[in-house]
Amino acid sequence: MADTPRFVLLALDGFPLRYFRPTVAPNLWRLGQEGGFCPEGGRSGLPSTTYPGFASLLTGAGQGGTGVRTTASRPGAVPGWVGTDRVLLPTIVHAAEEAGLRTAVVVGDHHLSRVLRFDDLERAWPPGAVVPAGTELDAHGCPTNAAVCGPALEAVADPSVDLVFVHLNETDTLGHDLGPNAPATGECARAADALVGEIVDALRPDWNRTVIAVVSDHDMARRLPLSPIDPSAGRECAGLVDDWIADGCAAWVRLAPGADAHMAINRLAALEGVESWRWREPATLLLLAAPGRVFAAPWIPLSGVHGSTQTARTLAIVGGGHAVVAELGRAIEARPPRLQDWAPTLAPVLGIDLPGADGLNMFEACEIASAG
Ligand SMILES: [Zn+2]
Repeated sequence: MADTPRFVLLALDGFPLRYFRPTVAPNLWRLGQEGGFCPEGGRSGLPSTTYPGFASLLTGAGQGGTGVRTTASRPGAVPGWVGTDRVLLPTIVHAAEEAGLRTAVVVGDHHLSRVLRFDDLERAWPPGAVVPAGTELDAHGCPTNAAVCGPALEAVADPSVDLVFVHLNETDTLGHDLGPNAPATGECARAADALVGEIVDALRPDWNRTVIAVVSDHDMARRLPLSPIDPSAGRECAGLVDDWIADGCAAWVRLAPGADAHMAINRLAALEGVESWRWREPATLLLLAAPGRVFAAPWIPLSGVHGSTQTARTLAIVGGGHAVVAELGRAIEARPPRLQDWAPTLAPVLGIDLPGADGLNMFEACEIASAG
Protein backbone atom coordinates (compact mmCIF):
# COMPACT_ATOMS: atom_id res chain seq x y z
CA MET A 1 0.00 0.00 0.00
CA ALA A 2 1.92 2.92 -1.35
CA ASP A 3 -0.02 5.57 0.54
CA THR A 4 -0.08 4.04 4.04
CA PRO A 5 1.40 6.98 5.93
CA ARG A 6 4.52 6.96 8.03
CA PHE A 7 4.62 9.68 10.65
CA VAL A 8 7.72 11.29 12.06
CA LEU A 9 7.17 13.72 14.88
CA LEU A 10 10.40 15.59 15.49
CA ALA A 11 10.71 17.84 18.54
CA LEU A 12 13.49 20.40 19.02
CA ASP A 13 13.44 21.30 22.71
CA GLY A 14 13.53 25.03 23.39
CA PHE A 15 14.60 25.80 19.81
CA PRO A 16 14.54 29.61 19.67
CA LEU A 17 11.91 30.55 17.11
CA ARG A 18 14.11 33.38 15.81
CA TYR A 19 16.45 30.76 14.32
CA PHE A 20 13.78 29.42 12.00
CA ARG A 21 15.25 31.23 9.00
CA PRO A 22 17.20 30.10 5.94
CA THR A 23 20.61 31.31 7.09
CA VAL A 24 20.57 29.35 10.38
CA ALA A 25 18.18 26.49 9.62
CA PRO A 26 18.24 25.84 5.85
CA ASN A 27 16.84 22.30 6.19
CA LEU A 28 13.90 23.34 8.36
CA TRP A 29 13.29 26.28 6.07
CA ARG A 30 13.24 24.10 2.94
CA LEU A 31 10.96 21.57 4.63
CA GLY A 32 8.54 24.35 5.58
CA GLN A 33 8.65 25.97 2.13
CA GLU A 34 7.84 22.66 0.42
CA GLY A 35 5.34 21.45 3.03
CA GLY A 36 4.01 24.23 5.21
CA PHE A 37 4.63 26.17 8.42
CA CYS A 38 2.90 28.56 10.75
CA PRO A 39 4.63 31.93 10.20
CA GLU A 40 3.92 33.22 13.71
CA GLY A 41 4.64 29.84 15.36
CA GLY A 42 2.39 27.39 17.15
CA ARG A 43 1.22 27.76 20.76
CA SER A 44 2.17 25.99 23.95
CA GLY A 45 0.09 26.01 27.11
CA LEU A 46 1.12 27.80 30.31
CA PRO A 47 3.49 27.34 31.95
CA SER A 48 5.39 27.16 28.66
CA THR A 49 7.76 24.50 29.93
CA THR A 50 8.95 21.10 28.77
CA TYR A 51 6.95 18.40 30.55
CA PRO A 52 3.48 19.99 30.32
CA GLY A 53 4.22 20.81 26.67
CA PHE A 54 5.26 17.32 25.65
CA ALA A 55 2.50 15.69 27.69
CA SER A 56 -0.01 17.78 25.68
CA LEU A 57 1.77 17.22 22.36
CA LEU A 58 1.83 13.43 22.73
CA THR A 59 -1.63 12.88 24.28
CA GLY A 60 -3.59 15.61 22.50
CA ALA A 61 -4.96 16.90 25.79
CA GLY A 62 -4.54 20.01 27.91
CA GLN A 63 -3.11 19.91 31.42
CA GLY A 64 -6.51 19.05 32.92
CA GLY A 65 -6.29 15.73 31.10
CA THR A 66 -2.57 14.98 31.21
CA GLY A 67 -2.17 15.94 34.87
CA VAL A 68 1.33 17.23 34.01
CA ARG A 69 1.45 20.90 34.96
CA THR A 70 5.08 21.60 35.75
CA THR A 71 8.62 20.67 34.77
CA ALA A 72 9.93 21.63 38.20
CA SER A 73 10.22 19.07 40.95
CA ARG A 74 11.42 18.77 44.48
CA PRO A 75 13.74 16.00 45.60
CA GLY A 76 11.61 12.90 45.26
CA ALA A 77 8.51 14.17 43.47
CA VAL A 78 6.33 16.90 42.08
CA PRO A 79 4.14 18.19 44.96
CA GLY A 80 0.79 16.44 44.54
CA TRP A 81 -1.26 19.65 44.58
CA VAL A 82 0.58 20.86 41.44
CA GLY A 83 0.07 17.73 39.37
CA THR A 84 1.55 14.39 38.47
CA ASP A 85 5.01 13.50 37.20
CA ARG A 86 3.70 10.70 34.93
CA VAL A 87 1.20 11.47 32.20
CA LEU A 88 -2.33 10.22 33.01
CA LEU A 89 -3.52 9.61 29.43
CA PRO A 90 -2.14 7.27 26.76
CA THR A 91 0.22 8.99 24.35
CA ILE A 92 -0.27 8.68 20.60
CA VAL A 93 2.67 6.25 20.67
CA HIS A 94 0.98 3.98 23.22
CA ALA A 95 -2.29 4.24 21.29
CA ALA A 96 -0.53 3.29 18.06
CA GLU A 97 1.08 0.27 19.76
CA GLU A 98 -2.34 -0.71 21.10
CA ALA A 99 -3.71 -0.55 17.54
CA GLY A 100 -1.00 -2.90 16.31
CA LEU A 101 1.22 -0.31 14.60
CA ARG A 102 4.98 -0.28 14.92
CA THR A 103 6.48 2.66 16.78
CA ALA A 104 9.88 3.94 17.85
CA VAL A 105 10.79 6.75 20.23
CA VAL A 106 14.18 8.41 20.68
CA VAL A 107 14.32 10.97 23.46
CA GLY A 108 17.23 13.23 24.40
CA ASP A 109 15.97 13.72 27.99
CA HIS A 110 15.55 10.50 29.93
CA HIS A 111 13.47 12.26 32.62
CA LEU A 112 11.01 13.29 29.92
CA SER A 113 10.89 9.66 28.80
CA ARG A 114 9.63 8.70 32.25
CA VAL A 115 7.06 11.53 32.33
CA LEU A 116 5.67 10.22 29.01
CA ARG A 117 5.79 6.58 30.23
CA PHE A 118 8.12 5.68 27.37
CA ASP A 119 10.07 3.51 29.82
CA ASP A 120 7.42 0.81 29.26
CA LEU A 121 7.82 0.79 25.45
CA GLU A 122 9.78 -1.93 23.72
CA ARG A 123 11.36 0.21 21.02
CA ALA A 124 12.56 3.23 22.97
CA TRP A 125 15.88 4.97 23.32
CA PRO A 126 17.22 5.27 25.93
CA PRO A 127 15.88 1.82 26.81
CA GLY A 128 13.84 1.88 30.00
CA ALA A 129 14.58 5.63 30.24
CA VAL A 130 18.08 4.78 31.46
CA VAL A 131 20.93 6.39 29.50
CA PRO A 132 23.42 3.70 28.43
CA ALA A 133 26.89 3.95 30.00
CA GLY A 134 29.34 5.86 27.83
CA THR A 135 26.69 8.07 26.18
CA GLU A 136 27.92 11.61 25.57
CA LEU A 137 26.07 14.01 27.88
CA ASP A 138 25.51 17.75 27.75
CA ALA A 139 26.01 20.22 30.61
CA HIS A 140 22.62 19.29 32.10
CA GLY A 141 23.37 15.55 32.07
CA CYS A 142 21.17 14.82 29.05
CA PRO A 143 22.34 12.97 25.92
CA THR A 144 23.83 15.32 23.31
CA ASN A 145 22.22 15.62 19.90
CA ALA A 146 25.23 13.77 18.48
CA ALA A 147 24.51 10.89 20.86
CA VAL A 148 20.82 10.80 19.87
CA CYS A 149 21.65 10.97 16.14
CA GLY A 150 22.45 7.25 15.65
CA PRO A 151 19.30 5.80 17.25
CA ALA A 152 17.18 8.52 15.58
CA LEU A 153 18.49 7.77 12.08
CA GLU A 154 18.10 4.04 12.66
CA ALA A 155 14.44 4.52 13.67
CA VAL A 156 13.48 6.75 10.74
CA ALA A 157 15.34 4.58 8.19
CA ASP A 158 13.29 1.50 9.12
CA PRO A 159 10.27 1.53 6.76
CA SER A 160 8.39 -0.97 8.93
CA VAL A 161 8.00 1.65 11.69
CA ASP A 162 4.72 3.56 11.27
CA LEU A 163 5.22 6.26 13.90
CA VAL A 164 8.52 7.73 15.08
CA PHE A 165 8.97 10.33 17.80
CA VAL A 166 12.39 11.98 18.04
CA HIS A 167 13.32 14.55 20.68
CA LEU A 168 16.52 16.59 20.55
CA ASN A 169 17.35 18.35 23.80
CA GLU A 170 20.58 20.26 23.33
CA THR A 171 19.14 23.57 22.10
CA ASP A 172 17.30 23.85 25.43
CA THR A 173 20.48 23.29 27.45
CA LEU A 174 22.51 25.86 25.51
CA GLY A 175 19.64 28.36 25.58
CA HIS A 176 19.43 28.12 29.38
CA ASP A 177 23.17 28.26 30.04
CA LEU A 178 24.25 30.85 27.47
CA GLY A 179 21.03 32.60 26.46
CA PRO A 180 19.07 32.34 23.20
CA ASN A 181 21.18 35.00 21.45
CA ALA A 182 24.63 33.56 22.25
CA PRO A 183 26.71 32.54 19.21
CA ALA A 184 27.09 29.01 20.64
CA THR A 185 23.30 28.67 20.96
CA GLY A 186 22.98 29.72 17.31
CA GLU A 187 25.62 27.13 16.40
CA CYS A 188 23.67 24.50 18.32
CA ALA A 189 20.50 25.44 16.41
CA ARG A 190 22.48 25.15 13.16
CA ALA A 191 23.76 21.70 14.17
CA ALA A 192 20.24 20.58 15.13
CA ASP A 193 19.09 21.73 11.70
CA ALA A 194 21.87 19.68 10.06
CA LEU A 195 20.56 16.65 11.93
CA VAL A 196 17.07 17.45 10.62
CA GLY A 197 18.63 17.36 7.14
CA GLU A 198 20.07 13.89 7.83
CA ILE A 199 16.69 12.67 9.08
CA VAL A 200 14.95 14.02 5.98
CA ASP A 201 17.55 12.32 3.76
CA ALA A 202 16.97 9.03 5.58
CA LEU A 203 13.24 9.38 4.89
CA ARG A 204 13.67 10.14 1.15
CA PRO A 205 13.43 6.51 -0.11
CA ASP A 206 9.94 6.36 1.38
CA TRP A 207 9.04 10.03 0.86
CA ASN A 208 5.62 9.40 -0.69
CA ARG A 209 4.48 7.71 2.52
CA THR A 210 6.13 10.26 4.81
CA VAL A 211 4.50 12.93 6.94
CA ILE A 212 7.00 14.80 9.09
CA ALA A 213 6.02 17.40 11.66
CA VAL A 214 8.67 19.50 13.39
CA VAL A 215 7.70 21.24 16.60
CA SER A 216 9.29 22.72 19.67
CA ASP A 217 7.82 22.75 23.17
CA HIS A 218 8.47 26.43 23.98
CA ASP A 219 10.60 29.39 22.97
CA MET A 220 13.50 30.77 25.04
CA ALA A 221 13.88 34.29 26.46
CA ARG A 222 16.90 36.12 27.84
CA ARG A 223 17.14 36.31 31.63
CA LEU A 224 18.03 39.78 32.92
CA PRO A 225 20.29 40.27 35.97
CA LEU A 226 17.38 41.08 38.31
CA SER A 227 16.63 39.36 41.59
CA PRO A 228 14.34 36.30 41.38
CA ILE A 229 10.72 36.70 42.51
CA ASP A 230 9.72 34.95 45.74
CA PRO A 231 5.94 35.09 46.25
CA SER A 232 6.23 33.92 49.85
CA ALA A 233 8.89 36.39 50.97
CA GLY A 234 7.13 39.76 51.14
CA ARG A 235 5.15 41.01 54.10
CA GLU A 236 2.23 41.95 51.82
CA CYS A 237 1.63 38.27 50.99
CA ALA A 238 2.11 36.93 54.53
CA GLY A 239 -0.47 34.27 55.34
CA LEU A 240 -1.77 34.06 51.77
CA VAL A 241 0.55 31.40 50.34
CA ASP A 242 0.41 27.82 51.55
CA ASP A 243 2.97 26.42 49.11
CA TRP A 244 4.50 27.38 45.79
CA ILE A 245 6.93 26.09 43.18
CA ALA A 246 8.82 27.95 40.48
CA ASP A 247 8.86 26.75 36.87
CA GLY A 248 11.21 29.19 35.15
CA CYS A 249 9.38 32.46 34.51
CA ALA A 250 6.13 30.94 35.80
CA ALA A 251 5.20 29.74 39.30
CA TRP A 252 2.37 27.68 40.75
CA VAL A 253 1.02 29.03 44.02
CA ARG A 254 -1.42 27.25 46.34
CA LEU A 255 -3.32 29.70 48.48
CA ALA A 256 -3.43 29.18 52.21
CA PRO A 257 -6.63 27.58 53.53
CA GLY A 258 -9.15 30.33 54.23
CA ALA A 259 -7.20 32.99 52.31
CA ASP A 260 -9.38 35.49 50.46
CA ALA A 261 -8.81 34.65 46.78
CA HIS A 262 -9.41 38.19 45.48
CA MET A 263 -7.02 39.74 47.98
CA ALA A 264 -4.43 37.05 47.31
CA ILE A 265 -4.63 37.54 43.54
CA ASN A 266 -4.38 41.32 43.91
CA ARG A 267 -1.32 41.18 46.14
CA LEU A 268 0.49 38.39 44.30
CA ALA A 269 -0.18 40.01 40.92
CA ALA A 270 1.21 43.31 42.25
CA LEU A 271 4.56 41.78 43.23
CA GLU A 272 7.49 43.36 41.45
CA GLY A 273 8.30 41.33 38.32
CA VAL A 274 4.92 39.59 38.09
CA GLU A 275 3.19 40.41 34.80
CA SER A 276 0.00 38.35 34.84
CA TRP A 277 -1.75 35.35 36.36
CA ARG A 278 -4.16 32.51 35.61
CA TRP A 279 -6.63 31.05 38.08
CA ARG A 280 -6.89 27.26 38.36
CA GLU A 281 -9.15 25.25 40.62
CA PRO A 282 -8.80 24.54 43.43
CA ALA A 283 -7.30 27.62 45.09
CA THR A 284 -4.33 27.55 42.75
CA LEU A 285 -2.75 30.44 40.89
CA LEU A 286 -0.27 30.43 38.03
CA LEU A 287 1.91 33.53 38.21
CA LEU A 288 3.69 34.69 35.06
CA ALA A 289 6.78 36.86 35.17
CA ALA A 290 7.52 39.98 33.14
CA PRO A 291 10.14 39.64 30.35
CA GLY A 292 13.61 38.92 31.73
CA ARG A 293 12.36 37.99 35.19
CA VAL A 294 12.37 34.59 36.82
CA PHE A 295 10.99 33.01 40.00
CA ALA A 296 13.25 31.92 42.85
CA ALA A 297 14.31 28.26 42.83
CA PRO A 298 17.17 26.12 44.14
CA TRP A 299 18.60 26.13 40.61
CA ILE A 300 17.96 29.00 38.22
CA PRO A 301 19.24 28.95 34.65
CA LEU A 302 21.98 31.50 34.13
CA SER A 303 21.03 33.19 30.88
CA GLY A 304 17.85 31.85 29.28
CA VAL A 305 14.40 31.09 30.72
CA HIS A 306 10.93 30.03 29.67
CA GLY A 307 7.54 29.46 31.26
CA SER A 308 5.58 32.67 30.66
CA THR A 309 3.44 33.96 27.78
CA GLN A 310 6.59 35.44 26.23
CA THR A 311 7.93 31.94 25.48
CA ALA A 312 4.63 30.23 24.63
CA ARG A 313 5.39 30.00 20.91
CA THR A 314 6.61 26.88 19.16
CA LEU A 315 7.99 25.72 15.85
CA ALA A 316 5.19 24.40 13.65
CA ILE A 317 6.50 22.94 10.38
CA VAL A 318 5.29 20.05 8.22
CA GLY A 319 6.80 18.24 5.26
CA GLY A 320 6.86 14.97 3.41
CA GLY A 321 5.51 13.47 0.21
CA HIS A 322 2.24 11.99 1.48
CA ALA A 323 -1.01 13.43 0.13
CA VAL A 324 -2.14 14.84 3.50
CA VAL A 325 0.91 17.11 3.85
CA ALA A 326 -0.40 19.91 1.62
CA GLU A 327 -3.68 20.07 3.51
CA LEU A 328 -1.89 19.96 6.86
CA GLY A 329 0.39 22.75 5.68
CA ARG A 330 -2.61 24.91 4.76
CA ALA A 331 -4.20 24.20 8.14
CA ILE A 332 -1.21 25.37 10.19
CA GLU A 333 -0.65 28.38 7.96
CA ALA A 334 -4.26 29.43 8.52
CA ARG A 335 -4.32 28.99 12.28
CA PRO A 336 -1.52 28.55 14.85
CA PRO A 337 -1.73 24.98 16.13
CA ARG A 338 -1.63 24.39 19.87
CA LEU A 339 0.59 21.56 21.09
CA GLN A 340 -2.48 19.47 21.96
CA ASP A 341 -3.84 19.82 18.41
CA TRP A 342 -1.10 17.75 16.75
CA ALA A 343 -1.94 14.27 18.06
CA PRO A 344 -5.73 14.51 17.41
CA THR A 345 -4.86 15.61 13.85
CA LEU A 346 -2.39 12.80 13.17
CA ALA A 347 -4.23 9.97 14.97
CA PRO A 348 -7.19 9.61 12.55
CA VAL A 349 -4.81 9.49 9.57
CA LEU A 350 -3.06 6.57 11.26
CA GLY A 351 -6.46 5.05 12.04
CA ILE A 352 -6.05 5.15 15.82
CA ASP A 353 -8.16 6.39 18.71
CA LEU A 354 -6.87 8.82 21.31
CA PRO A 355 -9.01 8.46 24.41
CA GLY A 356 -9.10 11.62 26.47
CA ALA A 357 -7.78 13.93 23.76
CA ASP A 358 -9.47 17.33 23.69
CA GLY A 359 -7.30 19.12 21.13
CA LEU A 360 -8.62 20.08 17.70
CA ASN A 361 -8.30 18.01 14.58
CA MET A 362 -6.65 20.68 12.42
CA PHE A 363 -8.17 19.28 9.21
CA GLU A 364 -11.68 19.71 10.61
CA ALA A 365 -10.85 23.11 12.15
CA CYS A 366 -9.55 24.22 8.74
CA GLU A 367 -12.75 23.09 6.99
CA ILE A 368 -14.88 24.92 9.54
CA ALA A 369 -12.81 28.07 9.06
CA SER A 370 -13.07 27.96 5.25
CA ALA A 371 -16.79 27.11 5.36
CA GLY A 372 -17.42 30.05 7.68
ZN1 LIG B 1 11.77 22.28 26.87
